[in-house]
Amino acid sequence: MIYRQYGTTGKKVSLLGFGGMRFGHIDDPEVCVRMMLKAAEGGVTYFDTAPGYFETKSESVFGKGLAELRRRNLPYYVATKTFKTTESDIRREIEAQLKRLDVDAIDFYHIWCITNLENWQARKKDGILETFRKLKDQGLIRHICVSSHLVRDEIGQLLMEGVFEGVLFGYSAYNFQTREAAFNAIRAKKLGAVVMNPLGGGIIPQHPELFGFLKPNPEASVVAEALRFLWDHEDISVTLVGFKEESDVADALAAIEGYKPRTQAELAAVKSRASASFEGVCTGCAYCDDCPQEIPIPRFMESYNQKLLNDQPGTNVILNRLKNHWQIDPHKAADCVECGQCEQACTQHIDIIERLKLITSAVKSAS
Ligand code: SF4
Ligand code: SF4
Repeated sequence: MIYRQYGTTGKKVSLLGFGGMRFGHIDDPEVCVRMMLKAAEGGVTYFDTAPGYFETKSESVFGKGLAELRRRNLPYYVATKTFKTTESDIRREIEAQLKRLDVDAIDFYHIWCITNLENWQARKKDGILETFRKLKDQGLIRHICVSSHLVRDEIGQLLMEGVFEGVLFGYSAYNFQTREAAFNAIRAKKLGAVVMNPLGGGIIPQHPELFGFLKPNPEASVVAEALRFLWDHEDISVTLVGFKEESDVADALAAIEGYKPRTQAELAAVKSRASASFEGVCTGCAYCDDCPQEIPIPRFMESYNQKLLNDQPGTNVILNRLKNHWQIDPHKAADCVECGQCEQACTQHIDIIERLKLITSAVKSAS
């Protein structure tokens, strides 16, 4: 196992982290505990869950798993999150979490899922930062962290708050161009960086041809290379993998044991091959993001990617992505006046206007 510093906390954490969001047998705690044990025996020390994973069942099985790790003197850090914003709600939540997790304190406690900066300002108004500081002073949490779906410079604005010790965000060979700017703030503030969705939510293994730019030779495994792509990134402290089956834990441990680092120059060469491979697929570069109608085009096009790449028929996948992931009203697509400015700027030559029209018709048929 490889261990890296988590920001300036003084803690070294395993580069491979255990994500508790995908357990395939959540109603069989014995299996879940066995998976955690196997990971810990392989050197994993970072275990991440959240109250929303399987309606708190993930935290409950984590409680059993962590107790077993303690019995066996296996070291670990536990991370979880809260979506609550007021002090009274957060206190009620953390009390229940400490019980479920069967610990006295949470190592890395996250303000959960900042989807846009307005949402962040609203949570700040509710006093969330003061509450987190109090929880830390009282020893209930050890480090103040945040998890985010923000993109490009927005995530930098969030991280420059100065209160955070670490950040959790989605980053992979699929979306690295949208999220790379986060690392400027991570370096500036010396934060721990935990990345999730290392396989782009399944998109990478489903489309090995699209991600062929990762592979040094045709025989290489696209999954192993997608993980290597993250492990090569020197600013990443932990790569979270959400394990479904016991065999997934074994596979990930084998991958990190066999990991052969590349130089930063070699990694840059891999990244430079991505755009050509992604022709027709939005990379989130945001060159189009100056729409006179204020349509957030990169988010619309990323949602369209889900239809192209997620192998789900129909257009609901686009609408779900817009509403649930990006929290955007899909009706906004209808505001397009077809000025063509965005298509001229698009590096991937995407027919943005056509895609917005399709989204508008999907909205109409869904209502
Ligand atoms: S074509 Fe439509 S989406 Fe593109 S910039 Fe013009 S108004 Fe905005
Ligand atoms: S310019 Fe094209 S590839 Fe870049 S974010 Fe806009 S739609 Fe996506």
